[in-house]
Amino acid sequence: MQRVLLVEDEPAIADTLVYALETECFEVTHALTGGDGLAAFARQPFDLVVLDIGLPDMTGLDVCRQLRASHSVPVLFLTARDGEMDRILGLELGGDDYVTKPFSPREIVARVRAILRRTGGTALPPPPAGTSNGSPQPFHHDPASMRVHCHGTPLDLTAHEYKLLLVLLGKPGRVFTRDQLLDQAWEDPGAVTDRTIDAHIKSIRAKMRAVRPGAEEAIQTRRGLGYVMVISH
Ligand code: CA
Repeated sequence: MQRVLLVEDEPAIADTLVYALETECFEVTHALTGGDGLAAFARQPFDLVVLDIGLPDMTGLDVCRQLRASHSVPVLFLTARDGEMDRILGLELGGDDYVTKPFSPREIVARVRAILRRTGGTALPPPPAGTSNGSPQPFHHDPASMRVHCHGTPLDLTAHEYKLLLVLLGKPGRVFTRDQLLDQAWEDPGAVTDRTIDAHIKSIRAKMRAVRPGAEEAIQTRRGLGYVMVISH
């Protein structure tokens, strides 16, 4: 069962969210203040934090900053105003997301699922038996730090490059069309084009090649179809 920490000072909102998340089989801990939220986080690990920006003792952004000092847990921000949204967008939204109030509990549950799928939920398939002896996987995903390592070196990827690579790595051997990659790696697929995918793939390949020449060949182009991750040992 995945654990969610909800930090929200308005009881009515908190109650509906706790109910909605628990109905979907998440284990929820609710804190009314930023201080209580940080204390709860210090006591036990969580898979995701749902964080209100307007808290009585400190802002949600401050809470996030303190969490991030020691953890890379994904955060879903709840914002009340557009002004708050601008400040969130100023952050590096690696595995994070935000929702503007008023929202429906269903929307929150959907976002929580999407974030977990992108981050902790997209664990790579375990290496086939025997590969640990002398022939390691060329790629390793560390959900906690939201990094993909290539031959032991972390790739310095943008948020979209990271998401794209995770989609491909999640199903080696499967060909993904550009539309499928857009759907899975972009929040708002309508805002970008096929060419955007090509540009991001090119950049990911360049970063792999910088780590080890030839590593970029793991992402293969299937002309007229899309891209596929081919992992050879
Ligand atoms: Ca509030």
